[in-house]
Amino acid sequence: MKALVLIDIQIDFLPGGALEAQNGNEVVPVANKLMGHFDIVVATKDWHPANHGSFAANHPWRKPGQIIDLNGLDQILWPIHCVQNTFGSEFPDTLQSDKIQQIFYKGTDPGIDSYSGFHDNGQRRSTGLAEFLREKGVDEVFIAGLATDYCVKFSVLDALKEGFKTNVVVDGCRGVNLAPEDSEKALAEMREKGARLLESSEVIH
Ligand SMILES: [Zn+2]
Repeated sequence: MKALVLIDIQIDFLPGGALEAQNGNEVVPVANKLMGHFDIVVATKDWHPANHGSFAANHPWRKPGQIIDLNGLDQILWPIHCVQNTFGSEFPDTLQSDKIQQIFYKGTDPGIDSYSGFHDNGQRRSTGLAEFLREKGVDEVFIAGLATDYCVKFSVLDALKEGFKTNVVVDGCRGVNLAPEDSEKALAEMREKGARLLESSEVIH
């Protein structure tokens, strides 16, 4: 059984949002096109409390892009984004979100960030995504969304660790690219660890 897993397609990660992925809006039509081709469609949402430790604004004298120690883990500081129940945390209207059967929320613990849709960055707590997929008999996942160099990458690496056959729909992903090559490097790492990279046209045929 195959499942489509859409990562963090939320207003704050789209152009004009608080933490935009470059051309992030371009993943929306790809996601819409893909959804009709899967029996199981799930999505993740970055879902932070306002006091989240990944926000630079919650640390005196710190700026986005700096790295701090957050409870024993290196943490890149980000602008405030995807605060629970705010406008920026919503799916864009253009996404056919009625086709999403289940949403998994990540980054809810103020003390630890969560790039992957499966676990927090310390692999301390599961979001329930892997368990849900296994319960549905899923053995292969197709992952798309935002952003290639963070949440897509870590979701893909966790999907592999969880034993799923893992595909990345490359034209359905866009990156933040703090450094210009970050997305390319992330894709290369995903491939090296065992993920298959493909285009949406190869999924829909
Ligand atoms: Zn976040």
